[in-house]
Amino acid sequence: MQFAEIPGLDELKQSLVASYKNNHIAHAQLFNSAMGGGGLPIAMAFATYLLCQNKGDQDSCGQCANCQKMAKLIHPDVHYIYPKPSASKSSDYEKLQAETLKKWRTFAVEKPYSDIDDWISYNGYENKNVLISREDSRNIIRTVSMKSFEGDFKILIIWYPEFMHPAAANGILKVLEEPPTQTIYLLVSYAYDNLLATIKSRTQIFNVTPFKDEIIKNYLIEKKGIDQTNAEKVSRLANGSLGKAFYELDHADNMAYESFRNWMQICLKADYSGMLHFTDDFVRSSKPQQRNQLEFALTLIRDAILSKADNDQLVNREGAEGEFIKKFGGFASLAALEKIYTNISAAMGHLTRNASPRITFMNLSLQCSKFLRS
Ligand SMILES: [Zn+2]
Repeated sequence: MQFAEIPGLDELKQSLVASYKNNHIAHAQLFNSAMGGGGLPIAMAFATYLLCQNKGDQDSCGQCANCQKMAKLIHPDVHYIYPKPSASKSSDYEKLQAETLKKWRTFAVEKPYSDIDDWISYNGYENKNVLISREDSRNIIRTVSMKSFEGDFKILIIWYPEFMHPAAANGILKVLEEPPTQTIYLLVSYAYDNLLATIKSRTQIFNVTPFKDEIIKNYLIEKKGIDQTNAEKVSRLANGSLGKAFYELDHADNMAYESFRNWMQICLKADYSGMLHFTDDFVRSSKPQQRNQLEFALTLIRDAILSKADNDQLVNREGAEGEFIKKFGGFASLAALEKIYTNISAAMGHLTRNASPRITFMNLSLQCSKFLRS
């Protein structure tokens, strides 16, 4: 990954490059990234830049042996720590580590804008508890105590440090505090508020802001060959997340729209067995799918509210979706739409905190039904 492959975030890229040029690289850096934002790509691009044997003024060369190894995440001096299930016996750790590392390399190269739910469903870990374990922390301590292979920097990229088990945190804090020379820790967090204060206080913090709609749109057009209309639509739905933009592209949102429309009709009719069917479908879908479904519902309701408030020019929907939004805004009161909006947001919050999808979705359906019929 090179800086040039990541859209936007120019100031952040420049300050990282400047830290190298001025010989002021903080040994522990924390990228406080928006969901679906550039946290992991920035960490990988910075590691590539630091190891590049033929650095340019702004970026790594992309050609030298180190850049090529970094493109496949196989450089021996860069280590990746990410949440995974813990090994049942400590003797199984090496095996588990080797297995997940293979998957990690493909995942991080192909889907660097993903989040933990994507990683969980990528590996089929839905029924497992993933974390950065005590074994991981031992492994980190072992790794930093060894010499680097190529004599340059040794870099540890820690993805989702908020998933660190408390027993792992102590060991990691120790190495953050007393790093061997030329060792650099790049922590990539997506839930800054959940991070231990002791970790925050030992790192230099960089905010990786959500991508602007315009940046996402241009990226989709220029790098992914998406047409203007689609790129505009997807960038607006993506809410600053490239991960979400890719998801939207993969799952033509026609299906999401049909499903939302049917759901609302069932709620309006107070059709309880229909709600149960919908709840079953919801429970069967993966976590990222559940979240995207609700996010999509939020954008439709938001548009219905805007359309009702006579702000039609802000609503960028065509065809059946546009018709539906007008109709929906026509019969549901503004108060009902706002309450539905608030309840869907709250349900998303509950799901991130691991509430039962079945209870959350069924409750949400009952609430929507009440608001629509009031
Ligand atoms: Zn290079």
